[in-house]
Amino acid sequence: MRIPIIAANLLLLPLSLALTGCGKPSLDVDPSLTTIGQATPVPVHVQDSRGVSKLTATLAQNGAQYQAWQTTAPSKSADTTFNFNVGSKTTPQLRDGSAHLIIEATSGGLFHRTTHWEREISVVTQPPVVSADSDQHYLYLGMADLATMNVTGSYTSAGVRVGNQTFRAWPMPGGKPGLFSLFAFAWNMPPGTMPLAYASNAAGNDVTMPLTVVFPKKEQPVYTQHEIQLTDQFMQKVLGELDPNGTGDPVERFVKINTEMRKSNNKTLADLRLKTVDRFLWHQPFTRQSHAQAEATFADVRSYIYHSKKIDQQVHLGYDLAVTQHVGVEASNDGRVVWAAPIGIYGNCIVVDHGYGLQTIYGHLSRIDVHEGDMVKRSQIMGLSGMTGMAGGDHVHFAMQLDGVQIDPKEWWDEHWIQDHVVRRVDLPGFGK
Ligand SMILES: [Zn+2]
Repeated sequence: MRIPIIAANLLLLPLSLALTGCGKPSLDVDPSLTTIGQATPVPVHVQDSRGVSKLTATLAQNGAQYQAWQTTAPSKSADTTFNFNVGSKTTPQLRDGSAHLIIEATSGGLFHRTTHWEREISVVTQPPVVSADSDQHYLYLGMADLATMNVTGSYTSAGVRVGNQTFRAWPMPGGKPGLFSLFAFAWNMPPGTMPLAYASNAAGNDVTMPLTVVFPKKEQPVYTQHEIQLTDQFMQKVLGELDPNGTGDPVERFVKINTEMRKSNNKTLADLRLKTVDRFLWHQPFTRQSHAQAEATFADVRSYIYHSKKIDQQVHLGYDLAVTQHVGVEASNDGRVVWAAPIGIYGNCIVVDHGYGLQTIYGHLSRIDVHEGDMVKRSQIMGLSGMTGMAGGDHVHFAMQLDGVQIDPKEWWDEHWIQDHVVRRVDLPGFGK
Protein backbone atom coordinates (compact mmCIF):
# COMPACT_ATOMS: atom_id res chain seq x y z
CA MET A 1 0.00 0.00 0.00
CA ARG A 2 2.96 2.32 0.58
CA ILE A 3 4.07 2.69 -2.99
CA PRO A 4 0.84 4.11 -4.38
CA ILE A 5 0.76 6.68 -1.59
CA ILE A 6 4.25 7.92 -2.42
CA ALA A 7 3.32 8.00 -6.06
CA ALA A 8 0.26 10.03 -5.22
CA ASN A 9 2.42 12.40 -3.18
CA LEU A 10 4.81 12.82 -6.06
CA LEU A 11 1.95 13.65 -8.29
CA LEU A 12 0.60 16.16 -5.85
CA LEU A 13 3.97 17.75 -5.15
CA PRO A 14 4.06 20.22 -8.05
CA LEU A 15 0.60 21.40 -7.14
CA SER A 16 1.41 21.87 -3.45
CA LEU A 17 4.63 23.66 -4.39
CA ALA A 18 2.64 26.04 -6.46
CA LEU A 19 0.32 26.63 -3.52
CA THR A 20 2.72 26.91 -0.62
CA GLY A 21 6.29 26.01 -1.35
CA CYS A 22 7.29 28.85 -3.60
CA GLY A 23 5.21 31.69 -2.20
CA LYS A 24 6.97 34.84 -1.07
CA PRO A 25 6.38 36.19 2.42
CA SER A 26 4.35 39.36 2.54
CA LEU A 27 5.93 41.97 4.74
CA ASP A 28 4.78 45.24 6.14
CA VAL A 29 6.23 47.97 8.30
CA ASP A 30 4.27 50.81 9.91
CA PRO A 31 4.25 53.75 7.44
CA SER A 32 4.92 56.13 10.35
CA LEU A 33 8.44 54.74 10.69
CA THR A 34 10.40 57.39 8.81
CA THR A 35 13.07 58.32 11.34
CA ILE A 36 15.46 56.32 13.45
CA GLY A 37 17.53 57.47 16.38
CA GLN A 38 19.77 55.71 18.84
CA ALA A 39 17.53 52.68 19.30
CA THR A 40 14.25 52.91 17.47
CA PRO A 41 11.72 50.07 17.68
CA VAL A 42 10.91 48.50 14.31
CA PRO A 43 7.89 46.17 14.29
CA VAL A 44 7.78 44.06 11.13
CA HIS A 45 4.69 42.04 10.33
CA VAL A 46 5.29 39.01 8.09
CA GLN A 47 2.75 36.62 6.64
CA ASP A 48 3.74 33.33 5.06
CA SER A 49 1.83 30.09 5.34
CA ARG A 50 5.14 28.19 5.61
CA GLY A 51 6.56 30.44 8.30
CA VAL A 52 9.69 32.58 8.10
CA SER A 53 13.09 30.93 8.06
CA LYS A 54 15.05 34.18 8.36
CA LEU A 55 14.52 37.92 8.67
CA THR A 56 17.31 40.48 8.36
CA ALA A 57 17.43 44.25 8.74
CA THR A 58 20.20 46.20 7.03
CA LEU A 59 21.03 49.90 7.10
CA ALA A 60 22.59 51.42 4.01
CA GLN A 61 24.20 54.82 4.12
CA ASN A 62 26.74 56.54 1.87
CA GLY A 63 27.46 53.37 -0.12
CA ALA A 64 28.09 51.16 2.91
CA GLN A 65 25.79 48.48 4.30
CA TYR A 66 25.53 47.51 7.95
CA GLN A 67 23.67 44.54 9.25
CA ALA A 68 21.38 45.92 11.92
CA TRP A 69 19.51 42.85 13.10
CA GLN A 70 18.66 39.27 12.21
CA THR A 71 16.56 36.45 13.53
CA THR A 72 18.26 33.72 15.52
CA ALA A 73 15.56 31.09 14.98
CA PRO A 74 12.95 30.47 12.28
CA SER A 75 9.30 31.14 12.95
CA LYS A 76 6.81 28.43 12.05
CA SER A 77 3.87 30.74 12.39
CA ALA A 78 1.99 31.95 9.31
CA ASP A 79 1.63 35.34 10.90
CA THR A 80 4.55 36.80 12.86
CA THR A 81 5.42 40.24 14.14
CA PHE A 82 9.15 40.71 14.68
CA ASN A 83 10.13 43.48 17.10
CA PHE A 84 13.67 44.77 17.23
CA ASN A 85 15.54 48.05 17.59
CA VAL A 86 17.80 49.70 15.05
CA GLY A 87 19.88 52.83 15.39
CA SER A 88 23.24 54.26 16.27
CA LYS A 89 23.47 52.23 19.47
CA THR A 90 23.85 48.98 17.52
CA THR A 91 25.18 50.59 14.32
CA PRO A 92 27.66 53.23 15.55
CA GLN A 93 28.83 53.95 11.97
CA LEU A 94 25.50 55.74 11.25
CA ARG A 95 25.61 59.47 10.72
CA ASP A 96 22.72 61.92 10.98
CA GLY A 97 21.10 62.31 7.57
CA SER A 98 19.46 60.09 5.03
CA ALA A 99 19.79 56.28 4.97
CA HIS A 100 17.93 53.22 3.72
CA LEU A 101 16.40 50.58 5.92
CA ILE A 102 16.31 47.25 4.08
CA ILE A 103 14.39 44.29 5.42
CA GLU A 104 14.49 40.82 3.89
CA ALA A 105 12.21 38.02 4.92
CA THR A 106 12.88 34.48 3.74
CA SER A 107 10.02 32.01 3.48
CA GLY A 108 10.02 28.79 5.48
CA GLY A 109 8.74 27.10 2.27
CA LEU A 110 10.77 24.67 0.21
CA PHE A 111 12.40 27.24 -2.10
CA HIS A 112 13.20 29.78 0.62
CA ARG A 113 12.04 32.64 -1.49
CA THR A 114 12.90 36.06 -0.15
CA THR A 115 10.94 39.30 -0.04
CA HIS A 116 12.95 42.50 -0.21
CA TRP A 117 11.57 45.66 1.41
CA GLU A 118 13.26 49.03 1.49
CA ARG A 119 12.43 52.55 2.74
CA GLU A 120 14.34 55.80 2.86
CA ILE A 121 14.56 57.03 6.43
CA SER A 122 16.23 59.87 8.29
CA VAL A 123 18.78 59.18 10.94
CA VAL A 124 18.48 61.61 13.84
CA THR A 125 20.71 60.70 16.73
CA GLN A 126 21.32 64.13 18.15
CA PRO A 127 18.58 65.69 20.31
CA PRO A 128 17.51 69.22 19.43
CA VAL A 129 18.69 72.07 21.63
CA VAL A 130 16.07 74.39 23.10
CA SER A 131 16.67 77.72 24.77
CA ALA A 132 13.91 79.90 26.16
CA ASP A 133 13.80 83.63 26.80
CA SER A 134 15.00 84.87 30.18
CA ASP A 135 11.90 86.98 30.84
CA GLN A 136 10.17 86.67 34.16
CA HIS A 137 6.81 85.14 33.34
CA TYR A 138 4.14 85.99 35.89
CA LEU A 139 1.75 83.10 36.24
CA TYR A 140 -1.89 83.57 37.18
CA LEU A 141 -4.44 80.79 37.29
CA GLY A 142 -6.54 80.80 34.13
CA MET A 143 -4.36 83.37 32.37
CA ALA A 144 -2.07 83.39 29.35
CA ASP A 145 1.43 84.60 28.56
CA LEU A 146 3.88 84.49 25.68
CA ALA A 147 7.37 83.00 25.63
CA THR A 148 9.97 83.21 22.91
CA MET A 149 12.49 80.45 22.26
CA ASN A 150 15.10 79.09 19.93
CA VAL A 151 15.39 75.51 18.80
CA THR A 152 18.34 74.14 16.85
CA GLY A 153 18.89 70.67 15.41
CA SER A 154 16.23 68.42 13.96
CA TYR A 155 12.84 68.70 15.69
CA THR A 156 9.26 67.84 14.87
CA SER A 157 7.43 69.68 17.65
CA ALA A 158 8.23 72.50 20.02
CA GLY A 159 6.38 74.75 22.39
CA VAL A 160 5.60 75.24 26.05
CA ARG A 161 4.46 72.37 28.23
CA VAL A 162 2.57 73.11 31.43
CA GLY A 163 1.78 69.94 33.37
CA ASN A 164 0.11 67.67 30.80
CA GLN A 165 -0.92 70.53 28.52
CA THR A 166 1.09 71.58 25.50
CA PHE A 167 1.04 74.87 23.65
CA ARG A 168 2.57 74.92 20.22
CA ALA A 169 5.45 77.18 19.24
CA TRP A 170 5.26 79.03 15.94
CA PRO A 171 7.92 80.68 13.78
CA MET A 172 8.22 84.35 14.66
CA PRO A 173 6.04 86.49 12.43
CA GLY A 174 7.71 88.74 9.87
CA GLY A 175 10.45 86.23 9.08
CA LYS A 176 12.37 87.02 12.27
CA PRO A 177 14.51 84.19 13.69
CA GLY A 178 13.24 82.06 16.52
CA LEU A 179 9.88 80.80 17.74
CA PHE A 180 7.19 81.97 20.10
CA SER A 181 4.47 80.24 22.04
CA LEU A 182 1.28 81.59 23.57
CA PHE A 183 0.67 79.44 26.63
CA ALA A 184 -1.75 79.31 29.52
CA PHE A 185 -1.52 78.41 33.17
CA ALA A 186 -4.91 76.71 33.43
CA TRP A 187 -7.42 77.69 36.12
CA ASN A 188 -6.95 74.28 37.78
CA MET A 189 -3.19 73.83 37.26
CA PRO A 190 -1.51 72.90 40.55
CA PRO A 191 0.51 75.94 41.71
CA GLY A 192 4.18 75.06 41.53
CA THR A 193 3.83 73.42 38.10
CA MET A 194 6.82 74.59 36.09
CA PRO A 195 6.18 75.64 32.49
CA LEU A 196 8.85 74.16 30.24
CA ALA A 197 9.99 75.16 26.79
CA TYR A 198 10.35 71.86 24.94
CA ALA A 199 11.42 70.43 21.62
CA SER A 200 11.17 66.85 20.48
CA ASN A 201 12.04 64.93 17.36
CA ALA A 202 10.79 61.86 15.55
CA ALA A 203 13.59 59.73 16.98
CA GLY A 204 12.04 60.10 20.42
CA ASN A 205 14.36 62.77 21.79
CA ASP A 206 12.68 65.31 24.03
CA VAL A 207 14.50 68.23 25.60
CA THR A 208 13.15 70.88 27.92
CA MET A 209 14.20 74.11 29.53
CA PRO A 210 12.21 75.65 32.38
CA LEU A 211 10.87 79.16 31.88
CA THR A 212 11.72 81.77 34.48
CA VAL A 213 8.48 82.22 36.36
CA VAL A 214 6.96 84.10 39.25
CA PHE A 215 3.75 82.88 40.85
CA PRO A 216 2.38 85.77 42.92
CA LYS A 217 0.45 83.81 45.53
CA LYS A 218 -1.47 86.71 46.96
CA GLU A 219 -2.64 88.06 43.61
CA GLN A 220 -4.11 84.83 42.30
CA PRO A 221 -7.76 84.97 41.24
CA VAL A 222 -10.18 83.71 43.84
CA TYR A 223 -13.02 81.81 42.27
CA THR A 224 -16.41 82.81 43.54
CA GLN A 225 -18.91 80.25 44.75
CA HIS A 226 -22.43 80.41 43.37
CA GLU A 227 -25.57 78.47 44.01
CA ILE A 228 -27.80 77.75 41.06
CA GLN A 229 -31.35 76.95 42.13
CA LEU A 230 -32.75 74.45 39.68
CA THR A 231 -36.45 74.85 39.14
CA ASP A 232 -38.59 72.06 37.74
CA GLN A 233 -39.25 74.28 34.76
CA PHE A 234 -35.50 74.67 34.03
CA MET A 235 -34.89 70.96 34.56
CA GLN A 236 -37.70 70.10 32.09
CA LYS A 237 -36.34 72.59 29.55
CA VAL A 238 -32.81 71.15 29.72
CA LEU A 239 -33.92 67.51 29.65
CA GLY A 240 -36.40 68.14 26.82
CA GLU A 241 -33.71 69.78 24.73
CA LEU A 242 -30.58 67.77 25.54
CA ASP A 243 -31.99 64.33 26.44
CA PRO A 244 -35.37 64.24 24.66
CA ASN A 245 -35.66 60.44 24.52
CA GLY A 246 -34.19 59.77 27.97
CA THR A 247 -36.10 58.01 30.71
CA GLY A 248 -35.53 57.56 34.40
CA ASP A 249 -34.77 59.87 37.27
CA PRO A 250 -34.69 63.50 36.04
CA VAL A 251 -31.98 64.44 38.56
CA GLU A 252 -29.71 61.64 37.37
CA ARG A 253 -30.32 62.61 33.77
CA PHE A 254 -29.57 66.26 34.52
CA VAL A 255 -26.33 65.42 36.35
CA LYS A 256 -25.28 63.18 33.47
CA ILE A 257 -25.79 66.05 31.00
CA ASN A 258 -23.99 68.48 33.30
CA THR A 259 -20.95 66.20 33.75
CA GLU A 260 -20.56 63.80 30.83
CA MET A 261 -22.07 65.95 28.09
CA ARG A 262 -20.18 69.00 29.39
CA LYS A 263 -16.91 67.06 29.30
CA SER A 264 -17.53 65.80 25.77
CA ASN A 265 -18.62 69.28 24.58
CA ASN A 266 -15.44 70.79 26.04
CA LYS A 267 -13.42 68.16 24.17
CA THR A 268 -15.19 69.13 20.91
CA LEU A 269 -14.23 72.75 21.58
CA ALA A 270 -10.65 71.88 22.53
CA ASP A 271 -10.17 69.84 19.34
CA LEU A 272 -10.82 72.98 17.30
CA ARG A 273 -7.26 73.98 18.28
CA LEU A 274 -6.17 72.19 15.14
CA LYS A 275 -8.29 74.54 13.01
CA THR A 276 -6.04 77.52 13.43
CA VAL A 277 -3.69 79.50 11.21
CA ASP A 278 -0.11 80.56 11.82
CA ARG A 279 -0.67 84.29 11.68
CA PHE A 280 -2.40 86.99 13.72
CA LEU A 281 -5.82 87.58 12.18
CA TRP A 282 -6.41 90.52 14.56
CA HIS A 283 -4.72 93.83 15.34
CA GLN A 284 -6.90 95.41 18.02
CA PRO A 285 -7.82 94.39 21.57
CA PHE A 286 -10.67 91.90 21.88
CA THR A 287 -14.08 93.36 22.70
CA ARG A 288 -16.79 92.32 25.05
CA GLN A 289 -20.40 92.19 23.90
CA SER A 290 -21.59 95.85 23.87
CA HIS A 291 -23.74 97.07 26.77
CA ALA A 292 -23.72 93.64 28.36
CA GLN A 293 -23.97 92.84 32.04
CA ALA A 294 -21.70 90.02 33.22
CA GLU A 295 -23.97 87.61 35.04
CA ALA A 296 -21.23 85.08 35.57
CA THR A 297 -17.45 85.32 35.25
CA PHE A 298 -14.59 82.96 34.49
CA ALA A 299 -14.13 79.93 36.75
CA ASP A 300 -17.13 80.60 38.96
CA VAL A 301 -17.73 77.49 41.02
CA ARG A 302 -21.37 76.55 40.68
CA SER A 303 -23.31 74.38 43.06
CA TYR A 304 -26.53 73.08 41.56
CA ILE A 305 -29.34 73.01 44.12
CA TYR A 306 -32.56 71.11 43.47
CA HIS A 307 -35.29 71.03 46.10
CA SER A 308 -32.80 72.36 48.69
CA LYS A 309 -30.29 69.61 47.94
CA LYS A 310 -26.92 70.02 46.20
CA ILE A 311 -26.93 67.61 43.28
CA ASP A 312 -23.83 68.71 41.35
CA GLN A 313 -20.92 71.13 41.14
CA GLN A 314 -19.19 72.48 38.01
CA VAL A 315 -16.79 75.25 37.12
CA HIS A 316 -18.08 77.84 34.65
CA LEU A 317 -15.31 78.54 32.13
CA GLY A 318 -16.57 81.75 30.56
CA TYR A 319 -18.55 84.94 30.97
CA ASP A 320 -22.32 85.06 30.79
CA LEU A 321 -23.12 88.33 29.05
CA ALA A 322 -26.71 89.51 28.99
CA VAL A 323 -28.24 92.50 27.25
CA THR A 324 -31.81 91.96 26.16
CA GLN A 325 -33.45 89.09 24.37
CA HIS A 326 -32.21 88.21 20.89
CA VAL A 327 -29.47 90.81 20.82
CA GLY A 328 -26.88 90.69 18.02
CA VAL A 329 -23.86 88.56 19.02
CA GLU A 330 -20.66 90.42 18.19
CA ALA A 331 -17.38 88.86 17.07
CA SER A 332 -14.84 89.79 19.73
CA ASN A 333 -12.15 90.35 17.13
CA ASP A 334 -11.26 89.72 13.49
CA GLY A 335 -10.99 86.05 12.70
CA ARG A 336 -12.29 83.04 10.85
CA VAL A 337 -15.33 80.99 11.87
CA VAL A 338 -14.25 77.42 12.61
CA TRP A 339 -17.54 76.19 14.10
CA ALA A 340 -21.15 77.31 13.56
CA ALA A 341 -23.51 74.59 14.85
CA PRO A 342 -25.01 73.26 18.09
CA ILE A 343 -22.69 71.80 20.75
CA GLY A 344 -24.74 70.15 23.54
CA ILE A 345 -24.88 72.29 26.67
CA TYR A 346 -23.58 75.33 24.76
CA GLY A 347 -26.58 75.21 22.43
CA ASN A 348 -26.12 76.93 19.07
CA CYS A 349 -22.45 77.81 19.17
CA ILE A 350 -19.94 79.79 17.13
CA VAL A 351 -16.18 79.47 17.49
CA VAL A 352 -13.92 82.06 15.85
CA ASP A 353 -10.23 81.41 15.31
CA HIS A 354 -7.90 84.40 15.66
CA GLY A 355 -4.68 82.61 14.73
CA TYR A 356 -1.92 80.84 16.67
CA GLY A 357 -4.43 78.69 18.57
CA LEU A 358 -6.34 81.62 20.12
CA GLN A 359 -10.11 81.22 19.73
CA THR A 360 -13.34 82.80 21.03
CA ILE A 361 -16.53 80.85 21.78
CA TYR A 362 -20.13 82.13 21.74
CA GLY A 363 -22.89 79.90 23.17
CA HIS A 364 -26.70 79.66 23.65
CA LEU A 365 -27.52 81.57 20.43
CA SER A 366 -31.08 81.58 19.12
CA ARG A 367 -29.82 82.07 15.58
CA ILE A 368 -26.50 81.62 13.76
CA ASP A 369 -25.90 83.83 10.73
CA VAL A 370 -22.35 82.75 9.80
CA HIS A 371 -20.87 79.59 8.35
CA GLU A 372 -17.70 77.65 9.01
CA GLY A 373 -14.93 79.25 6.96
CA ASP A 374 -16.41 82.78 7.00
CA MET A 375 -14.03 85.62 7.83
CA VAL A 376 -15.54 87.95 10.41
CA LYS A 377 -14.65 91.47 11.52
CA ARG A 378 -14.40 92.75 15.08
CA SER A 379 -17.91 93.65 16.37
CA GLN A 380 -19.58 92.05 13.36
CA ILE A 381 -22.96 90.56 14.26
CA MET A 382 -22.79 86.77 13.81
CA GLY A 383 -26.20 85.75 15.10
CA LEU A 384 -28.67 86.42 17.90
CA SER A 385 -28.44 85.65 21.60
CA GLY A 386 -30.81 83.13 23.09
CA MET A 387 -31.10 80.33 25.59
CA THR A 388 -30.37 77.14 23.63
CA GLY A 389 -28.48 74.42 25.49
CA MET A 390 -28.11 74.63 29.24
CA ALA A 391 -29.32 78.20 29.68
CA GLY A 392 -32.14 79.42 31.85
CA GLY A 393 -32.35 82.89 30.33
CA ASP A 394 -31.31 84.80 27.24
CA HIS A 395 -27.54 85.54 27.30
CA VAL A 396 -24.30 84.91 25.42
CA HIS A 397 -21.86 82.48 26.98
CA PHE A 398 -18.54 84.03 25.93
CA ALA A 399 -15.35 82.04 26.40
CA MET A 400 -11.83 81.95 25.09
CA GLN A 401 -9.38 79.12 24.54
CA LEU A 402 -5.70 78.94 23.83
CA ASP A 403 -4.56 75.75 22.12
CA GLY A 404 -7.69 74.08 23.48
CA VAL A 405 -7.28 75.26 27.09
CA GLN A 406 -10.04 77.60 28.26
CA ILE A 407 -8.69 80.84 29.66
CA ASP A 408 -10.01 84.05 31.22
CA PRO A 409 -10.77 86.46 28.37
CA LYS A 410 -10.36 89.59 30.47
CA GLU A 411 -6.68 90.14 29.68
CA TRP A 412 -7.43 90.07 25.98
CA TRP A 413 -9.91 92.93 26.43
CA ASP A 414 -7.04 95.00 27.82
CA GLU A 415 -4.86 96.84 25.29
CA HIS A 416 -2.07 97.42 27.85
CA TRP A 417 -1.86 93.76 28.74
CA ILE A 418 -1.59 92.82 25.06
CA GLN A 419 1.10 95.49 24.52
CA ASP A 420 3.06 94.22 27.49
CA HIS A 421 2.75 90.49 26.95
CA VAL A 422 2.39 90.04 23.20
CA VAL A 423 3.41 93.11 21.17
CA ARG A 424 6.59 93.67 23.20
CA ARG A 425 7.80 90.19 22.29
CA VAL A 426 6.50 89.56 18.77
CA ASP A 427 5.50 91.62 15.75
CA LEU A 428 1.76 92.17 15.70
CA PRO A 429 1.47 94.39 12.66
CA GLY A 430 -0.77 97.42 13.08
CA PHE A 431 -1.66 96.70 16.71
CA GLY A 432 -3.09 99.72 18.56
CA LYS A 433 -3.21 101.80 15.41
ZN1 LIG B 1 -22.14 80.46 30.62
